[in-house]
Amino acid sequence: MEIGIVGLPNVGKSTLFNAITKAGAECANYPFCTIEPNVGIVSVPDERLDFLAKIENPQKVVPATIKFVDIAGLVKGASKGEGLGNKFLSHIREVDAILNVVRCFEDSNIVHVEGSIDPVRDVEIINLELILADLETVERRMQKTSKLARNDKKAAFELEVLEKIKNTLEEGKPARAVQFDEEEKAVVNQLMLLTSKPVMYVANISEEDLILREENLHVKKLREYALKEGSEVLVISAKIEEELAALPDEERNELLKEYGLKEPGLNNIIRHGYSLLGLITFFTAGPKEVHAWTIKRGTKAPQAAGKIHSDFERGFIRAEVISFEDLVKAGSQAAAREMGLLRLEGKDYVMQDGDVVVFRFNV
Ligand code: GDP
Repeated sequence: MEIGIVGLPNVGKSTLFNAITKAGAECANYPFCTIEPNVGIVSVPDERLDFLAKIENPQKVVPATIKFVDIAGLVKGASKGEGLGNKFLSHIREVDAILNVVRCFEDSNIVHVEGSIDPVRDVEIINLELILADLETVERRMQKTSKLARNDKKAAFELEVLEKIKNTLEEGKPARAVQFDEEEKAVVNQLMLLTSKPVMYVANISEEDLILREENLHVKKLREYALKEGSEVLVISAKIEEELAALPDEERNELLKEYGLKEPGLNNIIRHGYSLLGLITFFTAGPKEVHAWTIKRGTKAPQAAGKIHSDFERGFIRAEVISFEDLVKAGSQAAAREMGLLRLEGKDYVMQDGDVVVFRFNV
């Protein structure tokens, strides 16, 4: 699962991406940390993991991680193949969610490709390119399907769904704006549309505005736009994030204090990105290792066990689960057992975010 960072040129994408890779350097003990120059992996900050590490004092702590991909090259006309247009669009097709960096800082030294700061216009330029690309995909598919639809019920149904999407796109709206039922979703998923991917906007503001702690007009306008679409807006200063990420812990804390921040804004982006991808975390915790495992929301216990080892899934008997809140109440796993807070769950149990689990299985 990965998030693609997009945005017009000179909005702060690379600056944000540098912050991500610098923060990611801390997890250098992961073999997959340095893959490609435009891919960064960071651990997901999680206070629950810190708590578990404190009570178990394990030899090793393994956080959940998330992957960001820097996708450069979007300009107006990308869907017509301008600039690196086609390459850009094919990169977006591969990611699971989109982080759209929007310039909300004024700086006369840094040119804006469109000549002025206007976040809603910028977002609309990008969204329009994605919509146009999707429209092409849908129309191409309709040509094929309409021939079959005359004497094939399945094809006729598909054609109906395609028409629904086409109408939405032609209104200038993304495919994610349409509510599909399960059967329709199966058709939509095959299309791999760019505008059906979840989006969050990151408003990149100046250092001065960050200190003022007052949202500038650009951010307010972006918020209004995103609200209509049902997307989130996170506010950061990419430049400060880059600085923070490069500092050792102590100095970082000092700088955070100076800016009146509790934690780097990047943490917030990572956490929201994780949930944008529809991911949740369960934990295994013992004296050897405290481990945060990533699963899709809705995953059942045997499949979650399979994340740890395929044997766990194959021979699954049951899961012994303590919710994180109960564990905090009890203070330790042993105390939680004594207090009757441990639940025995079977193969149909849907894992919940924060579950602390021991899986029982046959070998
Ligand atoms: P990209 O083209 O979107 O990847 O943009 P870059 O990250 O390369 O940033 C373009 C320019 O804007 C660089 O000179 C950055 O230093 C500058 N920049 C990025 N973020 C900020 C910010 O928050 N404040 C200010 N003043 N400049 C920024």
